Amino acid sequence: MSDLPYRRATFRQADRTDNKVSLYNSGQPLGVECVGCGRRALTFADPKAFARLQGDMTRLQALKFKCTKCGSREVQLWMFYSDEHREKFMERPVGGPEF
Ligand SMILES: [Zn+2]
Repeated sequence: MSDLPYRRATFRQADRTDNKVSLYNSGQPLGVECVGCGRRALTFADPKAFARLQGDMTRLQALKFKCTKCGSREVQLWMFYSDEHREKFMERPVGGPEF
């Protein structure tokens, strides 16, 4: 149990207060997971797109996504605080991340 705060701080679901500025401050792109089929992708991974996050207060949960595999618009958003955790997210194609 002692490592729980560490894991929360490095890999967590975006909440309603998170915006593009908090994503920018995390230093990592946004993880998008389709609720319909479990497909995972990263967005704002391009350096130019990432740089445009700065100063943008748009809430992450207000962003619209559509899964290219199953067409679902229902997604879970994940934020990362290290390359390692971002890579772990992309290694697991289906199912929730490990906590
Ligand atoms: Zn899908």
